[in-house]
Amino acid sequence: MNARVVIVGTGGTIAGRGASAAHTATYDCSVETVDDLLDALPGARDLADIQTAQLFQTGSENFGNEELLGLARHVRALLKRDDIDGVVVTHGTDTIDETAYFLHLVVPSAKPVVVVGAMRPASALSADGPLNLYNAIVVASSAASRGKGTLVVSNDEIHSARDVVKTSTFKQEAFRSTFGPLGYVVEGRARFYRLVARRHTVESEWSIDTIQALPEVAIVYAHGGINRTVIEHMACSDVDAIVYAGTGNGNVAHELIDSLVKARARHIHIVRASRTGSGIVIRNAAQPDDRYGWIAADDQVPHKARILMMVALTGTRTTHALQEAFVTY
Ligand code: GLU
Repeated sequence: MNARVVIVGTGGTIAGRGASAAHTATYDCSVETVDDLLDALPGARDLADIQTAQLFQTGSENFGNEELLGLARHVRALLKRDDIDGVVVTHGTDTIDETAYFLHLVVPSAKPVVVVGAMRPASALSADGPLNLYNAIVVASSAASRGKGTLVVSNDEIHSARDVVKTSTFKQEAFRSTFGPLGYVVEGRARFYRLVARRHTVESEWSIDTIQALPEVAIVYAHGGINRTVIEHMACSDVDAIVYAGTGNGNVAHELIDSLVKARARHIHIVRASRTGSGIVIRNAAQPDDRYGWIAADDQVPHKARILMMVALTGTRTTHALQEAFVTY
């Protein structure tokens, strides 16, 4: 029997259309419906029993906390049904790594959830969306994909939502996982070679079933000559936490230390991350985190550290438990 898969459309370049086939990077985003995409995909309906739902139709840079919550609730409701085996989410690539990581942390199901996008619009020469979508349906239909957490399929690769990051504005090989993809999808078959060691989905301590709202977590990006005023403004706002995308190993300029310490005294959590894009921010190395009550992001990039921090803050406000989340997920 074919697997029963729902494709949930949210927009993005995968649903984009350009003025001509030569337009690979300038186009109208989020115009094709998920049914349009499916109808244009030869053989897709042979892969699985497919249903579709158009949840949003927008570029993923427009995703806020309400979209994250709405999508997670929708996916969770689908996966609770006995007549659905897996879900594919079509999504803009700009924040696909954030959304996928959110689902990975809060949707407690072993059924496959595959988030897929494209770097070129559907109308472009060598559009990557059709094969990416075809491959996503393959992965969502495969029993081998169960229990592996939320997956991102792109350019023949299957990535874990925990590790994957968008690394290019235009190249088809835009997605990278520090430790490599989990596997490949080639010739209609999902092939897995490794697993992620960190907790997710059914082993996560959080669930969209009980999350009503998400806290506000902001990111500050470090640079030479940075001025403290941005931190001082944030300390007077209603943010619950600041992820500081520091230089190198989460280094913090002298200029900022005092304002970050004061922000923490106002019960705003501080997460030290790194703007380098890879590597570990080590607790109590570049800064005395224990003394300041700060948190080190381990190996998570700043925009995904923000997702983990939002989710973790729904369950605890203690620095110790929040730090534990960064070495557990
Ligand atoms: N900015 C759009 C988005 O994230 C287009 C980028 C893309 O999908 O590749 O939805």
